[in-house]
Amino acid sequence: MPSGTEKAKEKFMQGVEKTRAPAEGSGVFGLSTALWLARSGYRRVTVFDMQDTASAGYDPGAGIESASADINKIIRFSYGSKIEYQRLASQAAEIWDEWNRDIAGLAEDELPEVLRRGQRQLWYKCGFLRMGAGSEFSDFELQTLRNMEKEGIRDTQFKSDDDAGEFLVSEVLLAFVAAHIERAERNGWAHKLDVCRRRERFGVHKAVLDSSAGFVVAYKACAWAQHLARKAGVEFILDREKGKVVGIDMTDHHKPVVRTADGVAREGDLIVVAGGGWTAGLLPEAEGLIETTAGSVATIQLPKDRPDLWDRFSPENFPVVTWGMSEGTGNDKDIYSFPRDENGIIKIGFRKTKWTNYSDVAGKSISVPKAAEKNIPMPAIEGIKEYISVNFPELAGLGLSSTWLCWYTDSIDNSFVVDFVPGRPRVAVCSGGSGHGFKFLPILGREVVKILEGKGDQTVYGQMWKWRASTAEKRNGLEEGEEGPRALEKQQMASREDWVF
Ligand SMILES: Cc1cc2nc3c(=O)[nH]c(=O)nc-3n(C[C@H](O)[C@H](O)[C@H](O)COP(=O)(O)OP(=O)(O)OC[C@H]3O[C@@H](n4cnc5c(N)ncnc54)[C@H](O)[C@@H]3O)c2cc1C
Repeated sequence: MPSGTEKAKEKFMQGVEKTRAPAEGSGVFGLSTALWLARSGYRRVTVFDMQDTASAGYDPGAGIESASADINKIIRFSYGSKIEYQRLASQAAEIWDEWNRDIAGLAEDELPEVLRRGQRQLWYKCGFLRMGAGSEFSDFELQTLRNMEKEGIRDTQFKSDDDAGEFLVSEVLLAFVAAHIERAERNGWAHKLDVCRRRERFGVHKAVLDSSAGFVVAYKACAWAQHLARKAGVEFILDREKGKVVGIDMTDHHKPVVRTADGVAREGDLIVVAGGGWTAGLLPEAEGLIETTAGSVATIQLPKDRPDLWDRFSPENFPVVTWGMSEGTGNDKDIYSFPRDENGIIKIGFRKTKWTNYSDVAGKSISVPKAAEKNIPMPAIEGIKEYISVNFPELAGLGLSSTWLCWYTDSIDNSFVVDFVPGRPRVAVCSGGSGHGFKFLPILGREVVKILEGKGDQTVYGQMWKWRASTAEKRNGLEEGEEGPRALEKQQMASREDWVF
């Protein structure tokens, strides 16, 4: 006799047996959903994508444009007061560790193509140095440390100096802080505490090094997750016509239908729209809840004949660095960078302003990704050049080697959106990554499946990610709309000449 939960699952299973189109989008949100559906016993899970992510191995250099198709992404556990995300990130990290081990142990022909070349490691625990741009620690930083103490993982954090003044929040914390540098030295992290020599050069360096964090090689991670999903039985239709969803309708007998660009309509029992920045274009009713914005990204190519730079910026010697991240102290710089990758590329991102691109979609004005935009606005180029000039002057002479826009899907409160779409039975949305979704690739689908099974109200993530609205004056920038100052068409775009310092 099945339990209530089993009954619900059984009912859902019967539907999915007939389904031909449950998930759309082979980015992190679609991949994780499909993988966990298949691993939870669901059959005939099909992923549609208009881009051939498999052949291109999610390589942005091969023309794949999505938030997930990238060189690298940060894995962090520092979430200020949002302890639920901190916990989920810690659980994800256990699977990232497992994936690293699994990949290392496999024969070459058991790996997806991109993992056969070069380094096999997905996740690098190289540390994450959160540098303040001023002389104070932000509230976010202090709250993060309190939460880490609560979770018993406070000893993974190293403060850049022994000045305990700003950490006088508890006796326990004071004791920790006093021993920070000594502890960093003992644990082999001291060389990453001040990689920009800020104390020596500016006399002040306010930073916390999180030794549990680092980055993942994004394109290889997606290719691996897709490989696992295929092995679990998921079918992928990745094609600019056969895989491109152009409409989601409903039959007379209330079954959702996916229409693709090749003119085929496929009836299903459940459709999950995980279209990243394209989601609001497909589900215009999500327009007040999520907004597509562009992040500005640039790279510096280290020359082959500079082994000193290759060594200095390697993950062994260099952490992920952020500078003046959302401090709220008037010193916001909102810049991040990675250690060099295996090809000698250093990626730098500008987060201070995320640009919008409003366009007419089914009579509504909706921000959508702008295809093939490689140039970034001038304020972003200037911010990135300032970051390099101030913190890594030895790189300035190299100039930038590429720029591009990478498309976020921001929600009104930076929390994800995973729920059934009001007024569209059996159509769900799985999106709103808001610039921090990648790290959850191994685990997100576990929570999505619970929500799709109708158990969202009983889970903390189901509650956090439900379809919602806000009348607040400030809604993460969504209140600005097409008239806002972040509109791409209002920006002066940088050109190659601006890549020189
Ligand atoms: C600049 C930037 C930096 C980030 N940094 C980090 C970080 O450091 N750490 C972190 O954890 N997260 C980070 N994120 C967030 C993370 O990358 C995203 O949350 C995540 O990748 C979103 O995945 P997705 O599947 O929702 O969207 P996407 O990766 O954009 O995938 C959407 C997919 O849907 C497909 N699609 C769209 N429309 C259709 C259609 N009509 N038919 C068929 N297919 C369609 C697209 O082709 C695409 O493959 C960052 C995001 C950005 C933009």
